[in-house]
Amino acid sequence: MMLGLLLARAGVDVVVLEKHADFLRDFRGDTVHPSTLQVLHELGILEAFLQRPHDRVDELTVTVGSEQARIADFRRLGTRCPFIAMVPQWDFLDFLRDHAQAYPGFQLLMRTQARELVRADGRVTGVRAIGPDGPLEIRADLVVGCDGRDSVLRGASGLAVRELRAPIDVMWMRIARRATDPAGSGGRIGAGGFMALIDRGSYWQCAFVIRKGGADALRTRGIEAFRQDLVRLVPQFADRVAAELPSWDAVKLLSVSVDRLQRWWQPGLLFIGDAAHAMSPIGGVGINLAVQDAVATANLLAGPLADARVRDLTPWLARVQQRRLWPTRVIQAVQVAAQDNMIRPLLERTEVPRMPFALKLLNRFALLRAIPAYGVGIGVRPEHVQSPEHLPVQQGASL
Ligand SMILES: Cc1cc2nc3c(=O)[nH]c(=O)nc-3n(C[C@H](O)[C@H](O)[C@H](O)COP(=O)(O)OP(=O)(O)OC[C@H]3O[C@@H](n4cnc5c(N)ncnc54)[C@H](O)[C@@H]3O)c2cc1C
Repeated sequence: MMLGLLLARAGVDVVVLEKHADFLRDFRGDTVHPSTLQVLHELGILEAFLQRPHDRVDELTVTVGSEQARIADFRRLGTRCPFIAMVPQWDFLDFLRDHAQAYPGFQLLMRTQARELVRADGRVTGVRAIGPDGPLEIRADLVVGCDGRDSVLRGASGLAVRELRAPIDVMWMRIARRATDPAGSGGRIGAGGFMALIDRGSYWQCAFVIRKGGADALRTRGIEAFRQDLVRLVPQFADRVAAELPSWDAVKLLSVSVDRLQRWWQPGLLFIGDAAHAMSPIGGVGINLAVQDAVATANLLAGPLADARVRDLTPWLARVQQRRLWPTRVIQAVQVAAQDNMIRPLLERTEVPRMPFALKLLNRFALLRAIPAYGVGIGVRPEHVQSPEHLPVQQGASL
């Protein structure tokens, strides 16, 4: 959606396909980081975005047993918006869509699922899709696969995927928030468990981390045993878990994968976001990395796409990968290290762990908390909008 907005803004005709009828999905996370807020500022739409309901997260905390540590302080970032805006992903997508639709070249087809790539003369020339009125074929100078970690187009491309380790899955559920609950999003660590809590005002979005493939064993133990696991981590839930989680229907299993394509492109085809590099939920950075990919792609491709004299986009496609591969590698390496060295050992412990020394240091020294804040909030190689607005549309430019 962000790439569609940026390219339409630059005068390129864009068709965005979305297989669902709406964006009301729960599974993508809600963290709009300072890097993404900066992009909205550069697009001149930040103020409008911040007028929408959102919760502001200035710092991150982790609770180990009964001890709490502050581990990241965004107020020290010195950026335009030194905080994370917690916004349901569907609100964020609706917002981007509303702004993209202001540009005449933008078209969004809902309930339209891309199924296959169309190829001619050794390059991708479009997609075949199925929409509410049946099959359709869309021809394009460039197809961008932004269809997430289970990308159909990635499978259809035959491009090689490098699997990285993902030893965890996530049980995803909502639990009502009471006025007496302590405010703020954060992590809870206890005997045999780790859970992230996202404060969504009227409820907590909970991500309970389990061993990869451990969901069946968990279900076999029964919903009551699971409720007790949650209460051990968050004692205040004792008064509501039974009502909130009457059965396993209220708990979704989200499979975590971490991988990336060896090559992100073929002639006429480019992958970005999770379709190019599936991200772990660790650090809650995947949405923001996908936005950064979109900004870099528009910066590099808006000009060539709008220029009818450019027949072969391949050099620019390779440049997108060159630009975005390094940040992706760094973030995935950190995620895999955190999964292996912190999360997995935690899941195997039967006693309440002690607060790790590194977290104690962060809690003690406020200045140090700027480091994780920068890593999570801004990340590696932040992108800035350079693609133009209102580039004159030239014949033949389309996405
Ligand atoms: C449990 C979990 C929690 C997470 N929490 C966070 C978090 O808090 N913050 C964060 O930044 N990241 C988080 N992430 C990572 C984040 O979800 C992804 O990195 C991010 O959503 C990637 O964005 P994307 O646009 O590339 O793909 P997606 O967000 O997956 O979007 C792909 C879109 O394409 C549509 N689509 C798929 N196939 C087709 C098709 N064939 N035709 C048409 N449309 C199609 C889908 O419906 C979807 O709308 C989390 C991941 C997991 C697994």
